[in-house]
Amino acid sequence: MPDRINNGHREIHNHRILNDAEMITDVKWQAIINNDTAYNNQFFYAVKSTGIFCKPSCKSRVPKKENVRIFSNAEQALRANFRPCKRCKPTNENLPDTEWVDLITEYIDKNFTERLTLESLANICHGSPYHMHRTFKKIKGITPVEYIQEVRVNAAKNYLIQTKKAIGDIAICVGMANAPYFITLFKKKTGQTPTQFRQMSKMEEKDSENKE
Ligand SMILES: [Zn+2]
Repeated sequence: MPDRINNGHREIHNHRILNDAEMITDVKWQAIINNDTAYNNQFFYAVKSTGIFCKPSCKSRVPKKENVRIFSNAEQALRANFRPCKRCKPTNENLPDTEWVDLITEYIDKNFTERLTLESLANICHGSPYHMHRTFKKIKGITPVEYIQEVRVNAAKNYLIQTKKAIGDIAICVGMANAPYFITLFKKKTGQTPTQFRQMSKMEEKDSENKE
């Protein structure tokens, strides 16, 4: 009989390790919305879309409820691959700049098709626009806005080579609803307009086919 009890315990224990996240209660949700310091150290909340976790009191933008995961301590959040917020410092330590920039980069890579500004990005990644701009540039050598442009132009190149989509549609697909601005940016970054780039890549393709 004692064996069975032990096994039962172990199962519950393993289950907890695999799934530390708890249900979000109304009380906890209210604490997050109200930045309630009384709940600090009682629980932590992580946001799936950004990969960041916070103290309940954090003044960062209120996340979408469905993206929130609740943890009873910081170690669990870290173990689930969330990183501590730069603003409220849930582990009471500074997030190293390189890790913060990794986080920002990942967010851009996943969300470049959406409207992104330095301000909205800073808000989402929990820092001031000025500080984010400087830190990103220090580590990556380019600014966050330049990085967003680079990601968009690269995605556009793929669309131009691999699809027959119209230029205006491609602009929208890469997060730039303003087609004339997209064309200007593309030319600035590649030296060619999107149409020229597409023609060139077709010619190169034919060339390599002829050689074969
Ligand atoms: Zn925070």
